[in-house]
Amino acid sequence: MRVTGYWRNISFLYRLAGWKCTHCGAFHHHYKPVICRRCRSREFTQVELPGSGRLRAYTVIRSPPKEFERYAPYSIGLIELEDGTKILSQLTDFKEDELRDGIRVEAVFRRVRVNGEQGIIEYGYKFRPVLSRS
Ligand code: ZN
Repeated sequence: MRVTGYWRNISFLYRLAGWKCTHCGAFHHHYKPVICRRCRSREFTQVELPGSGRLRAYTVIRSPPKEFERYAPYSIGLIELEDGTKILSQLTDFKEDELRDGIRVEAVFRRVRVNGEQGIIEYGYKFRPVLSRS
């Protein structure tokens, strides 16, 4: 990712937002796509997503792409948000025995990765279990 592209898109990195296809409802993260991957439509509406939902599946990544190597192992979850949108997100702030299908999770704002060559730190949302114990 080049510096100019990063600054142009910064509002998306700071918000849990994306684009919904006007025709089939498919959700596209962060950047406005040229064409819908599901139905080939070119019309999109910008949407903000609810900050909480339920964990529907998860997996532990032990051999990540090079730029995420320093964070391995880490967990990726399939999260169903309160409006029914399904997104993939990194999980954070949990003990392994807390992860179960169907638990409530919420978005937190965290560093996602350091962009090596320019030293740019990218921020974004990760999800963590909602602490209901008291
Ligand atoms: Zn579509």
